[in-house]
Amino acid sequence: MMIFNRKIVIFSILLVMLMLLSASSANYRGTGFSHDVPDNYYDSFSVEDIVSKYNESPYTSEKRAVCTHVVDGDTIYLDSGEKVRLVGVNTPEKGVTGYRASKGFVEKLCLNKEVGINVDDRKYRDKYGRTLAVVLVDGRNLNEMLLKEHLAEVMYIPPSEFSPYKWADTTQAEDVTAHNTTNTSIQAEKVDTPSSSGGYVGNVNSHKFHRASCEGVDKMSEKNKIYFQSRQEAIDNGYVGCKMCNP
Ligand SMILES: [Zn+2]
Repeated sequence: MMIFNRKIVIFSILLVMLMLLSASSANYRGTGFSHDVPDNYYDSFSVEDIVSKYNESPYTSEKRAVCTHVVDGDTIYLDSGEKVRLVGVNTPEKGVTGYRASKGFVEKLCLNKEVGINVDDRKYRDKYGRTLAVVLVDGRNLNEMLLKEHLAEVMYIPPSEFSPYKWADTTQAEDVTAHNTTNTSIQAEKVDTPSSSGGYVGNVNSHKFHRASCEGVDKMSEKNKIYFQSRQEAIDNGYVGCKMCNP
């Protein structure tokens, strides 16, 4: 009976220690991301296709340098010798599903090109000596684009001058993320529309059109929707078919 009680005590102590340990390692609250963007998803997009969907960032380029190497979706090297860790975001590591897609996206936008960086004023470097910064491509916030394209999850580690949860708002990037279904935390609200009965729905910003049943339509905000009776009507209006639902 003595031994049994001691076992319970030791087990309880271990349990408490485990809880404390997991609490202390949970410095950030990830929003989660689905990792289901196909590896070659961005092959068919030009830099202009991607960048033109985003507004210019309010952050300025504090320094400019050429990106010489992309390690993965959230870490790049600059010709200044600096290694930059994109602040506020986390992308899949090598060997994990989604790694290729996020790395490919960053390579397309940055590799061998001049980018700007805006260093986190509240924490310049991480413990590995990497510069913590927002990377700017054509004045657009790459960290924000990764979140909106569902290629990264939010990884907010205070102190930081940046608020990545704000960037994760998906209202701008609905077409590229249309195929992404499992991310519930930043999913746009589902609105019942006449379109659910049939027909085609276009996005007035991207000029892409979808079958009414496409998930891309669910994620589109109502003000960006335009309805077409037929495929031909959409094409005649200059709209291009969504790659996911092939209208
Ligand atoms: Zn679609």
